[in-house]
Amino acid sequence: MIEECIFCKIIKGDVPAERVAETDELIAIKDINPKAPHHYLIIPKKHIVDLRSFQEEDMALGGKMFSLAQKISKDLGDIAFRLVISNGYDAGQRIDHLHMHFLAGRAFED
Ligand code: AMP
Ligand code: ZN
Repeated sequence: MIEECIFCKIIKGDVPAERVAETDELIAIKDINPKAPHHYLIIPKKHIVDLRSFQEEDMALGGKMFSLAQKISKDLGDIAFRLVISNGYDAGQRIDHLHMHFLAGRAFED
């Protein structure tokens, strides 16, 4: 049997996580090791490794990830936010299932 990644297990409900939002194609969870007062991960339910393997058919999903980030910001009173997507180990990606960090609630220098 192929071992599922941690985010696929969270999406299935086999591993617990604090969900802050969900759509038919995405979940947003609290990051277990937050780098900001609001640190969420916006994760497609489809197992896509990173943006290098993103396909033409996935492009609409990209817009939906932005849309969910906008909704989370609105729910927090239109808070300013930073989005980060790491693609590949050398870029800092440690979980090989595409995810976008939503960071807010503190000042960012650069
Ligand atoms: P990255 O370095 O971009 O691959 O980010 C992976 C992120 O996932 C890190 O910020 C971790 O703190 C976070 N993370 C890892 N395991 C879990 C988990 N079980 N629940 C929530 N967040 C997690
Ligand atoms: Zn996965």
